[in-house]
Amino acid sequence: MDHEHSMNKVLINHLPQDQSEQLRRTLKTLEDIQYALDQSSIVAITNPQGIIQYVNDKFCEISKYDRHELIGQTHYIINSGYHTKAFFKNMWRTIGTGHVWHGEICNQAKDGSLYWVKTTIVPFLDDRGKPEQYVAIRTDISDQKRNEEKIFHMAHYDELTGVANRRLFYQTLELALEQHKRTGDPLSVSFIDMDRFSIVNDTMGHAFGDQVLKAFAARLKEWTYYHEGTFISRYGGDEFILLTQNRSEEEVHELLQSIHELTKEPLKIEGEEWKPSLSIGVAMYPKDGDTIDGLIQYADTAMYHAKNIGQNLMFHYQDFHEQLSREMEIERAIGDGIENGEFMVYYQPKLDAYSNQILGTEALMRWEHPELGFISPGEFIPIAEHTKWIVQLGMWVIKQAILQTKKWHTEGYELSLSVNVSPVQLEQKLFIEKLRDILTDTEFPPYLLEIEITENVAVSSSKEVLRRLEGIRSLGVKIAVDDFGTGYSSLNYLREFKADTLKIDKSFIRDVQTDHEKHCLVPTIIDIGHALNMNVVAEGVETKEQVEYLKFNDCDILQGFYYGKPVPPEELPLS
Ligand code: C2E
Ligand code: CA
Ligand code: CA
Repeated sequence: MDHEHSMNKVLINHLPQDQSEQLRRTLKTLEDIQYALDQSSIVAITNPQGIIQYVNDKFCEISKYDRHELIGQTHYIINSGYHTKAFFKNMWRTIGTGHVWHGEICNQAKDGSLYWVKTTIVPFLDDRGKPEQYVAIRTDISDQKRNEEKIFHMAHYDELTGVANRRLFYQTLELALEQHKRTGDPLSVSFIDMDRFSIVNDTMGHAFGDQVLKAFAARLKEWTYYHEGTFISRYGGDEFILLTQNRSEEEVHELLQSIHELTKEPLKIEGEEWKPSLSIGVAMYPKDGDTIDGLIQYADTAMYHAKNIGQNLMFHYQDFHEQLSREMEIERAIGDGIENGEFMVYYQPKLDAYSNQILGTEALMRWEHPELGFISPGEFIPIAEHTKWIVQLGMWVIKQAILQTKKWHTEGYELSLSVNVSPVQLEQKLFIEKLRDILTDTEFPPYLLEIEITENVAVSSSKEVLRRLEGIRSLGVKIAVDDFGTGYSSLNYLREFKADTLKIDKSFIRDVQTDHEKHCLVPTIIDIGHALNMNVVAEGVETKEQVEYLKFNDCDILQGFYYGKPVPPEELPLS
């Protein structure tokens, strides 16, 4: 078919048919328009069934097909597979009902390459108003598309690592959330943070740090290729954020373990190696939250929590809420526990390092709850502190332990008594008064009572607390600095503090045989204690070797499982 004729025919259909001169002129104008169109645009004409009847040179040029290969075919010949079926369905609905359609289409040329065209399809109608022919006018926008892609890439991908950036993550999560809200399927958001990355930057330089990030990001990216429904992005600094879809908590757990595996092989950069370790925090939709910000924030706090307690993976819900609810349970149970007499005092012997004689005991609180069982003081004391139950409990321990020790006195054992006192107790104005009352009521010799306060309390106390400690001392009661070595006290401070006893923390004693630094430090601490006129106690003594080492270094008093665990008063070995 002559294509020019065809084109004219289409256009003439819409012209008045009688005035021939006018028609001739009009035809001329139309031919001019067609010429202009052919010069500027890619033009094709199809019949109502979509069979191609006409293509211009530009069409052949861009599609790399010869004209005869195109005529008689449908546009399917240049379909790239880029667009959905719905996209074309919508297009056909528009032009099939006689409306002009505009859109951008990605087509595939004969050699397989893709090109973008901005397309206008005009339906021409017959007398009955049905489309008779479609004229498609296209312009090549491949360059523009490439630029757009470049700009999109710059705006959505991290420059250094090439993985998606925070913005694209938000967009992806937003879409995913919308979809999952319809289906109810789970998704997860995980913060993946490199541990001690700042050390890499500080010691090896920022350029090296950048290479570490790049290399690690490449591993993460590769990992996502093998794990469908995962999306990784760089959140900032050394933090990456991962989205997973349609995976249960157990499956997410497994997946994240495999992310930890990625750090098994050290990263090799410029002949140097660095083996990263990761802290990961996870929040699950819908369990933990159902908003973008909520999920991201929970994953972030879970990650920080994981880091703080030295764990490498933490789920927001699991670890946070379970812990919180147990804390609340304990908080509620303390009051009943006091009333029902569930608290007890155990005693651990303290021995003279030279004579091996028992000098006294340390009173340690115990709690057996009827349902929760034994709850360790390490768990309930911090809770009792922030709920202030410790004020009441602590006084009870002091009184109880004094009465018990009095009993031992009457049996002929002149034992001393150490009691732990929390800073919360020392903040109470009435503490000294109450202590004095107990001492006078029981007629207990104050010099046999020692109050243990932890090193950090000693250092960070307010003037008021320090004055209270002064007041305690003026009652004749002694003061011990507990857990020495775990805090940050300066020795100067110890001097000012004027404690009677220094208790070396059990972590020093535990490692004294194996840890060179501690091996050297313990004798120094003992010497300093002595120079400041303090008795030095080693706690956590468990082995014969430790005993010998401590004796050799002039430690005064020994306490630990080697001599006896904390026991109920009737079980204390008195001789
Ligand atoms: P602490 O004052 O440092 O008490 C010593 C802890 O070390 C006790 O743990 C004791 O059982 C344990 N221990 C003793 N010998 C050894 C040993 O040879 N090896 C090992 N591994 N551990 C040993 P416990 O009884 O679980 O108490 C934990 C902490 O709870 C105490 O640490 C103390 O800070 C606090 N606490 C206990 N009772 C009271 C109390 O009545 N009032 C206050 N405010 N705090 C208390
Ligand atoms: Ca203690
Ligand atoms: Ca201690």
